[in-house]
Amino acid sequence: MIVEKLREDAGGSDLIAAPQRRAEVVRAGLRAPSWNLTERQLCDLELLLNGGFMPLTGFMNGLDYESVCQDMRLANGALWPIPIVLDVTEEAAKDLTPGTVLGLRDPEGALLAVLHVEDLYRPDRKAEARQVYGTGSRDHPGVAFLLDQTHPVYVGGTVEGVHLPSHFDFPELRMTPRQVRAAMARQGWSRVVGFQTRNPMHRVHQELTLRAADAVGAKLLINPVVGMTKPGDIDHYTRVRCYKALMHRYPEDTAMLALLPLAMRMAGPREALWHAIVRRNFGCTHLIVGRDHAGPGKRLNGRSFYGPFDAQDLLRQFEAEIGIAMVSFPTLVYVGQLDAYLPEDEVPSGLAAHTISGTELRRRLTSGEQVPDWFTFPEVAGELRRSYRPRRERGFTVFLTGLSGSGKSTVSKILNARLLERGGRTITMLDGDVVRKNLSSELGFSREHRDLNIQRIGFVAAEITRHGGIAICAPIAPYDAARKAVRAMVEAHGGFVLVHLAAPLEVCEQRDRKGLYARARAGMIKDFTGISDPYELPEDAEVTIDTSEIGADEAAELILRHLEEEGFVGRRDFATS
Ligand code: ADP
Repeated sequence: MIVEKLREDAGGSDLIAAPQRRAEVVRAGLRAPSWNLTERQLCDLELLLNGGFMPLTGFMNGLDYESVCQDMRLANGALWPIPIVLDVTEEAAKDLTPGTVLGLRDPEGALLAVLHVEDLYRPDRKAEARQVYGTGSRDHPGVAFLLDQTHPVYVGGTVEGVHLPSHFDFPELRMTPRQVRAAMARQGWSRVVGFQTRNPMHRVHQELTLRAADAVGAKLLINPVVGMTKPGDIDHYTRVRCYKALMHRYPEDTAMLALLPLAMRMAGPREALWHAIVRRNFGCTHLIVGRDHAGPGKRLNGRSFYGPFDAQDLLRQFEAEIGIAMVSFPTLVYVGQLDAYLPEDEVPSGLAAHTISGTELRRRLTSGEQVPDWFTFPEVAGELRRSYRPRRERGFTVFLTGLSGSGKSTVSKILNARLLERGGRTITMLDGDVVRKNLSSELGFSREHRDLNIQRIGFVAAEITRHGGIAICAPIAPYDAARKAVRAMVEAHGGFVLVHLAAPLEVCEQRDRKGLYARARAGMIKDFTGISDPYELPEDAEVTIDTSEIGADEAAELILRHLEEEGFVGRRDFATS
């Protein structure tokens, strides 16, 4: 049977050079020009090398690329819905011509494979976005990545591998297609339904897998993506702990967990086909596809990019050709009165249906609220809670910005003292002058140096925040872009509160506690903020205080109150306030 044949091929083929050829490949690769793979290219290369992307034999040349974008097929007619391309800079492309070799290295410089260059081409990435994703909108994370984070030249050619990229996390769960098939064969599994996910598995997901296995009489391959998923998703360390915690809920010898180093594109329908091809290569006979499979989330205007069942409709047309059967599901919702998951359109009238979105889940975790048992098993909730501490136990940064003399140092010292008086937290002060003495002593006040200074403060503040501490920063930070960059760095790990001390320039100049304004006016200090260098007013401050009207004590009090209201610190009770 063709289907059996496809599966056999996948099991036997990978692109790692045979032992007798390997030394030659290494020699050629080390001598050749080289390219350090990006995170996404590393994921793609791993699946090329281990046979997960069978029948691909390398990164796509121009012909295959055009054909895949337009018709979802390689130039030879084989079904393949997603471009797998090696994008490089113009600089790197300079040294390459068809017939040459390119060494593919990991970010540390270790040689992983060589690419036998067939062609170089400059794609129309906007057209690619429309063809592959059906939209040119940057609201789509796959499109945003394509337009903003890929390089302009694609290099096509076959690859020969030296070894697979190394992973040090969860080695026991990282299996190649060949290893997964071997494990299935050992256990005598002939029908296996794959489950794709980029989220923690909650009860609805377990329902899907149990019902699917039951419906088609198959075993289960729980095959979560740990390569790249949608920005903002729960990190894979946390997710894998959740999956491991869940596995005991499957009867013995019915489910296997293996991690997939795929870089998702969030391409909805086309991505579902791709997932099916990859899972066939891993030995699955079936794949679960529910609502909005590999969906990119909504546009900013609230509309969806794809219909919730477009992925199912597309895969249905190609199941036979791919050699995998789809197990499709309608949207399942929880009905409390029946204590059961039901298809959305079968909920008896008068009964309420419940769901909890990813955003709502994260909100509950960070506010310390309960996650109900009907939604997720307690052991999974427990793992999530370990990663998502309630706000009050997480680190945060208070970033005071304002002109020289606006009161940043005084207010931050008072804030520091108030927080220390309460106890229980560690605080690091990153005052402008202190930082310039320690972290940035060699820097001056040019725009470049100011940005570098703020970037260093941001890096340290982000680390302090990540470790659960409090950072109080008080630089002038006159430029909006630099402040925003710090916000992004810190918010990846905890809270960020921008406080604008908005005293008018005249007031700061009148105070002139350090005599700096007088010297700036006299031309003795160059690039002085407010006098000879701009201060860009923040529009994103959480707290704005005009310190010409409000004293430093009261300003610190306003900040504290904000921290309490937002849950970063506990509320003071009556006795201690
Ligand atoms: P992705 O599809 O991007 O991996 P998920 O991890 O959320 O995202 O989904 C994994 C699989 O479970 C997909 O096939 C999806 O369609 C299905 N799924 C998730 N939640 C539901 C639900 N409530 N009803 C039906 N199918 C669902």
